Amino acid sequence: MAVEPFDAVQLIGAKRDHGTLTTPQIQWLVDAYTRGYVADSQMSALAMAILLNGMTREEIRDLTMAMVASGERLDFSGLGKPTADKHSTGGVGDKITLPLMPLVACFGVAVPQLSGRGLGHTGGTLDKLESIPGWRASLTNEEVFAQLAGPVGGVICAAGAGLAPADKKLYALRDTTGTVEAIPLIASSIMSKKIAEGTGVLVLDVKFGSGAFMKDFAKARELAQTMVELGTDAGVKTSALLTDMNVPLGLTIGNANEVRESLEVLSGGGPADVVELTVALAREMLTLAGQPDADVEAALKDGRAMDRWRAFVTAQGGDPDAALPVPRETHTVIAPTSGVLVTQEALSFGVAAWRLGAGRARQEDPVVHAAGIELHAKPGDTVAAGQPLFTLAADDAARFERALEALDGAWAIGEASDHVSSPLIRERVGS
Ligand code: URA
Repeated sequence: MAVEPFDAVQLIGAKRDHGTLTTPQIQWLVDAYTRGYVADSQMSALAMAILLNGMTREEIRDLTMAMVASGERLDFSGLGKPTADKHSTGGVGDKITLPLMPLVACFGVAVPQLSGRGLGHTGGTLDKLESIPGWRASLTNEEVFAQLAGPVGGVICAAGAGLAPADKKLYALRDTTGTVEAIPLIASSIMSKKIAEGTGVLVLDVKFGSGAFMKDFAKARELAQTMVELGTDAGVKTSALLTDMNVPLGLTIGNANEVRESLEVLSGGGPADVVELTVALAREMLTLAGQPDADVEAALKDGRAMDRWRAFVTAQGGDPDAALPVPRETHTVIAPTSGVLVTQEALSFGVAAWRLGAGRARQEDPVVHAAGIELHAKPGDTVAAGQPLFTLAADDAARFERALEALDGAWAIGEASDHVSSPLIRERVGS
């Protein structure tokens, strides 16, 4: 039996006492945890010490790269074209990947968008796309490569289990030990998967506000800076936009309804905030990929992005002309008074959509594709008494009561002077 060079208790003690771990210690730790030598109990103690006492930039980089080394690393250098990806830290109504991937692919930049499923109140890109009859989320690495090299030039699919398996194990542990919120752990978790994925350019959409993972702007900025440094150190051209997630994005929250809204954007229409963020992220990705002058708005207006979308859906077994699921039951909430909609609190709307069946409580649960919420007004809009404010959709009317409970106090009608508008994109992080 090989002699282990370190022991976990010593490393836990070092972090507990505000010490710094060396590169060999971190490499050993991640490897020994992945092979089961370091126990879950020891790793959770260490995760808690990291949450409380932090990590240096070098430690975070070592942790990230050790997690990359725990699995396979994709290599798209043989494609002969640049690659660019986007990662969002997750929000309510965040369907941006759907119009963004085909839009960027129109400019000859391949988009390897390896995505996840939703958990809790934030939706997952794959869940949304699975509302399209026949669409397939699981592709082999060979299929991913062929789709990027061919006329579609982009892919949205499930990230394979081979990418950063150490992160998979650690993330599941953090989820059950109150250690998700540590910035070094979040940053290394997200970036290990993105670095292993092999993209040349990465644009991060780091959300702050009630519906985001990071409620606080300063913390979101720290997370963004940490991730941009990690990407840059690993040779990935990385930048981040800090974007407001106090209000749901667009007018739909769910799965099939978010696909419908994405199709509006791809047809040159759609809600202003969804278009603004899609265009800003596409510009950022294309600028980092060497095309700062790409006219992304024109590609939305003239049908090029829609043509890519149709090719993408077809390539992954879906029918772009098939009808999307419609809900069996709906319930519309109307404005009790006239005035201006001043509040529409993202987290509560996300929780309500989740309770309607649009989200899942456990990774293995199914989602109800037609469930969700359609918003008929956004903060700042004038509403008249009796006008519809939003419509809940579910497969079973029994779900409405708990969804409405989540929405209690989540919206308000007031005077125009009560409405404070804030920019959707607050800041850019990157060189
Ligand atoms: N998403 C991830 O992939 N990891 C985290 O730690 C948090 C969000």
